[in-house]
Amino acid sequence: MNPKKQDIRALSKEELMAVFTAQGNKAFRGKQVYEWLWKKGAHRFEEMSNLSKQTREFLENEFSINHIAVDSMQRSQDGTIKNAIRLHDGLIVESVLIPTPKRTTACVSSQVGCSLDCKFCATARLKRMRNLNPDEIYDQVLAIDKQSRLYHNRKLTNIVFMGMGEPLMNYNNVLKAIEKITSKEGLAMSPKRIVVSTSGIPKMIKKMAQDGVKFNLAVSLHSAIDEIRSQIMPFNETFPLIDLRKALEFWYAKTKRQITYEYVVWEGVNDSTKDILALIEFCKFAPSKVNLIEYNPIEGGDFQQAKPDVIDNYVRMLEAKNITVTVRRSRGKDIDAACGQLANKS
Ligand code: SAH
Repeated sequence: MNPKKQDIRALSKEELMAVFTAQGNKAFRGKQVYEWLWKKGAHRFEEMSNLSKQTREFLENEFSINHIAVDSMQRSQDGTIKNAIRLHDGLIVESVLIPTPKRTTACVSSQVGCSLDCKFCATARLKRMRNLNPDEIYDQVLAIDKQSRLYHNRKLTNIVFMGMGEPLMNYNNVLKAIEKITSKEGLAMSPKRIVVSTSGIPKMIKKMAQDGVKFNLAVSLHSAIDEIRSQIMPFNETFPLIDLRKALEFWYAKTKRQITYEYVVWEGVNDSTKDILALIEFCKFAPSKVNLIEYNPIEGGDFQQAKPDVIDNYVRMLEAKNITVTVRRSRGKDIDAACGQLANKS
């Protein structure tokens, strides 16, 4: 690849139109190219069949189209597909297609590796290499949409930012990717079908609220007691629960939308009544849903999923306080595609 060529997908539609008008050409050519790049997912200028040969050659000389490629694909017994995605610079991230009878969900990555250090997460073992660009995030979604059509005869219905990385540490690019995903030139998906999951960066949660984003928020809480949360999620020292709570109050005041909490219950870590009471205290200020996620063991980890009766206690006590609870079974465990298992083993 000629390094001097500019990545054409870094240009907005307006900028692309300006490229053409600067050539004395029609602005709508820019729109056509934009559609090829974003709606039709073209990887080569040759594919852009409604442009003249001359125009295609001009683009070829000036620009490159950086795109991802599915490097390898694994299918789980339960239909979950894990993709190792090769980026233009050779780095790899993972994205997962999760089918249920009524939905196909894409679980996408926002960073190569992760800068946070959650003790129970395999991705945390990889150091953060870099942020993904908006188009690299968008392309993962497009690749999974294609697989959904191929294997399940339907388009992608939902997206969760629960792959590798902390989406709010790459906020601008995640936002740009979501703009593309929800725009008419992209997949025209409703933002209500998108969930951004964060380990809880207070300043960024406030920013999301101020920006008036329309997608949903999920917070990986795992403990509502600072001492415990700091042990399993050491960045909690920097962003303690009081700050997280204030940011969520701000979010709720602005959006009036339910807040989802992700929560794993581990034996000897957060399996006592005290832990449940702290959780209730933390989330009762707004309509809340607690997703009790099954723990997916990672190599060399010494965590253990709590016993079923502890999970039952959580469900009973939360429901008694009118907090919605779901108990989520893992998908794709046999191929290391479940929550927290994404670590480029291949
Ligand atoms: N950084 C973001 C998104 C990625 S993790 C976040 O923290 O929310 C997606 C979810 O998987 C998070 O709720 C995370 O806490 C959870 N998770 C991480 N490791 C896990 C494991 N081994 N088993 C189950 N869930 C895990």
